[in-house]
Amino acid sequence: MASPENDFEVSDATRVLNRVFGYDSFREGQQEIIEHVAGGGDALVLMPTGGGKSLCYQIPALVRPGVGVVISPLIALMQDQVDALRALGVRAGFLNSTQDHDERRMVEAEFVAGELDLLYLAPERLRSESAMRLLDRGKISLFAIDEAHCVAQWGHDFRPDYLALSALHERWPDVPRIALTATATEATHAEIASRLNLETARHFVASFDRPNIQYRIAPKNEPKRQLLDLLRAEHPGDAGIVYCLSRNSVEKTATFLTENGVQALPYHAGLDSQVRAANQARFLREDGLVMVATIAFGMGIDKPDVRFVAHLDLPKSIEGYYQETGRAGRDGLPSTAWLAYGLQDVVQLRRMIDTSEGDDAHHRRLGAHLDSMLALCETVECRRVRLLAYFGQGSDQCGNCDTCLTPPESWDGTIAAQKLLSTVLRLDRERRQKFGAGQIIDILLGKKTPKVTQHDHESLKVFGIGTELRDTEWRGVVRQLLAQGLLTVEGDYGTLVLTGTSAEVLRQERQVLLRREPERAPRAARSTSSGRRAAPAADLSEEAMPVFERLRAWRAASAKEQGVPAYVIFHDATLRQIAAESPTSLDELSKISGVGENKLAKYGQQILDTLAA
Ligand code: ADP
Ligand code: ZN
Repeated sequence: MASPENDFEVSDATRVLNRVFGYDSFREGQQEIIEHVAGGGDALVLMPTGGGKSLCYQIPALVRPGVGVVISPLIALMQDQVDALRALGVRAGFLNSTQDHDERRMVEAEFVAGELDLLYLAPERLRSESAMRLLDRGKISLFAIDEAHCVAQWGHDFRPDYLALSALHERWPDVPRIALTATATEATHAEIASRLNLETARHFVASFDRPNIQYRIAPKNEPKRQLLDLLRAEHPGDAGIVYCLSRNSVEKTATFLTENGVQALPYHAGLDSQVRAANQARFLREDGLVMVATIAFGMGIDKPDVRFVAHLDLPKSIEGYYQETGRAGRDGLPSTAWLAYGLQDVVQLRRMIDTSEGDDAHHRRLGAHLDSMLALCETVECRRVRLLAYFGQGSDQCGNCDTCLTPPESWDGTIAAQKLLSTVLRLDRERRQKFGAGQIIDILLGKKTPKVTQHDHESLKVFGIGTELRDTEWRGVVRQLLAQGLLTVEGDYGTLVLTGTSAEVLRQERQVLLRREPERAPRAARSTSSGRRAAPAADLSEEAMPVFERLRAWRAASAKEQGVPAYVIFHDATLRQIAAESPTSLDELSKISGVGENKLAKYGQQILDTLAA
């Protein structure tokens, strides 16, 4: 299918995929998008983090005449992006404020001479007339606008620069534009289209499923200890990201992991910018480091072998949770998204919402985001089904999340809910008092703590009526009532208060189904029945494992020598396949996914030598 206005052939795209990138087949959605843009069409692309957006503009830029201009706000990562492309034999360059005059002049000259395939630009450059004039002097094959949600997010740092990008279309009406984002809500989608004048562009919405990520959500007991157990049992020596809500807990967790033999680095906005940049560079360049960070970390980090993303605190929205967990497993290998959450998280986030700026409508929106997140945590259904439903997409039971692997029992918690709600009600009615979950549970369990005695709560009718459940089980009841909207928290101390629907339970008009607290964390059994791949360690035989380690050591040395991240040389997935199949010739090696022509020429013999050693 040749497109009318262009002599591009579909086979060109596939050939570039094979030869340059060394991949056998397109991922879902890629081919259609690439054909459309390569044929000169405008596109708005919604694809999840790790879905493979870059190829959607890189391949069209390679098959169309001229230079593809990529607008990306992530200046700190441009060097790595360009290095990764150069390693593939793609002629790439960037222009941003980190370069000196001479470096800039050189890239500009290459652009004008048509000696580049791709040019990365920071959005603020395009607000200067001199940059516009520079672009006029070369031939542009397409504009790719990465992280396009920046134009839609109110208060986003890069927003003013992104808003100015609508001018591209006016100045170069014939150059196709492709805007890409992993942010999926309808509102954002519509706003990107209108702000960037992309209403008539074709909209591509890929599946948001990331099948190789195993989603798990556990009640939070001793979070650091739970995390350490997870890392020791399932991810020894793996690279991963641990998200914490506060700078303080970032520091503490990083120290704790380091003291326990896990190499971990902190990252948060309070750190000196040089330390932050150095930690980020180490995480990208070295194998097996754990980054403990606030959500300030991660946008644009396209390290392919992040094997786990752990959240020690509840994310504020499913949207955020999905972006953050999406940073795991870009290479398609099995990865874990693990979240520990507890009652205290709910209290803390509610307080943050109550005290945040903005009007009531804004607070209500934030509250609704949190409620959806809570509902995901407490669901007895497949997590993936719930996640994809949030993005308006359907899915079957996935077989690769904790609720699928260890289906939680549900139980009729109506009576327990009534006991708890009536304790809250009595305190409020009889004593005009409000208390947090701890005190309510102590009353239900009949514990004579100093605080119980001080407030004379022993004399309440409900004192000691809840001994059939343990303390942790009562906490589970509170969390689930919060998630179901039958209870809410307010104020600085997280006091529990009834909601409009609590009365239905108290009046026996509503049954409350609850999820039983698991005795211990579900086993990480990975199902292969649904075609998902086995655990990374399991898909290498005992003979292949040391070979893989040798290849990794060779890669680490080469990466260091060239000053590039290890994955720029080869991804783990590629090294694993090499170790498993141990090719004996360059021709055999070229068949492995991730080995393109340039890397074959550059590293092929070294790989064969390493295998033969
Ligand atoms: P996104 O920008 O959508 O988060 P990337 O473009 O960084 O995702 O792609 C994620 C990873 O998947 C990258 O490491 C990329 O090399 C790899 N990848 C993309 N497309 C393919 C493909 N068709 N086959 C194999 N690997 C792919
Ligand atoms: Zn599932």
